[in-house]
Amino acid sequence: MRQAGAVVAEVLSELQKVAKPGMTTAALDAIALRMTAAAGAEALFKGVRNAQARQPFPGAICASIDDEVVHGIPSDRVVLREGSILSLDFGVRLNGYCGDAAVTVPIGRIAEGNERLLRTTQDVLAIAIDRVRPGVRWSEVAGRMQRHAESAGFSVVRDFVGHGIGTKMHEDPKVPNFVSDELLADDIVLAEGMVLAVEPMINAGTYAVRTLGNGWTVVTRDGRCSAHFEHTLAVVKGGCEVLTRK
Ligand code: MN
Repeated sequence: MRQAGAVVAEVLSELQKVAKPGMTTAALDAIALRMTAAAGAEALFKGVRNAQARQPFPGAICASIDDEVVHGIPSDRVVLREGSILSLDFGVRLNGYCGDAAVTVPIGRIAEGNERLLRTTQDVLAIAIDRVRPGVRWSEVAGRMQRHAESAGFSVVRDFVGHGIGTKMHEDPKVPNFVSDELLADDIVLAEGMVLAVEPMINAGTYAVRTLGNGWTVVTRDGRCSAHFEHTLAVVKGGCEVLTRK
């Protein structure tokens, strides 16, 4: 899983570097595919099916711009524009094991409100990284993540959550970025050897989202911006190891 995580980190770092105004999200996708093949890995998202969508997911990356929360489809018709924020989500399988991470990057100069949204979402993920260790209840971590986002005036997306990860991209348990009765009734006690993909999605406005007619792209209902950061974390003695950090 360290090896898979390293490939994910490498690819996202490259995409982050090259994402500029005028570039298409299809061009970013092509770079991700090329680097994945060169590493001997398999792109996890390409070909994934969901009941609502007519087509399997066509991209190696999810590229979600501004009010798009997750699962934006890379396209040669989508050109990055100065002032946008772009969420890049990417995962691979290597030697049977998966890694999954996401980062939201500014395209050129962005508004101060969006800068604050990116910083806050990154901080929310950092809180999780800081708190994850054996013996801790996930609700305790999720509560801190949620409070940080909400005290900044933002909201935590409810309809999409993090997940366990291993030989498959999505494994049990579900790892929400907020506290609910459902979580409290069936809390996760973190234990050495667990690997979790923690992925806060934070909205500038309300947390309500909807899915576009293509069956994939999730957008905010109020049209305001959303940011997304994710790392694959291994719970180890005394803390966690971030497997998808360069
Ligand atoms: Mn994920």
